[in-house]
Amino acid sequence: MDNESQLTTKKEKRDGAVVLTLEGVINERTNLDEVLKDVPEGKLIINLRGITRINSCGVRDWVNAIRPLAGKCDIEYVECSRAIVDQLIMITNFLQPGRIVSFYAPYYCEECKKAHEVLVNIAEHFDADEDFEDAEAPDFECPKCGKVMEFAEDEATYFFFLAED
Ligand SMILES: [Zn+2]
Repeated sequence: MDNESQLTTKKEKRDGAVVLTLEGVINERTNLDEVLKDVPEGKLIINLRGITRINSCGVRDWVNAIRPLAGKCDIEYVECSRAIVDQLIMITNFLQPGRIVSFYAPYYCEECKKAHEVLVNIAEHFDADEDFEDAEAPDFECPKCGKVMEFAEDEATYFFFLAED
């Protein structure tokens, strides 16, 4: 399936930073060097909300492609999708160098019997001295009924990647 290799990228300037928004699939057919070429020095914000799938080849290629930027860019990852977090759970240092700012997490409202993905902002939703090796999911209210939702995965596993820093 050839369209599986598709990745769309958008690069824009915002408040002195370059914002790179990636959407689609990252795998062995993705040319990440092309995606990351011409990134200027300075702050680089990478938005991964739209990544629907990344396989182990994609992770390896990503690590290799991003490494040359380490010295010249201050990299932040925002809105990491579930697909990205699933890889982070297995390969904790995959988004290094760089800092993870926010990521999506699965919640479930018992009242509405409905699943919701919530954007977790690390600085906002966790204490500064949070021990991520034993992290508890932050509380979020259901956007429909306002009841506090259940975290829908194993908390110890899901947040553990944040302990590696
Ligand atoms: Zn609800």
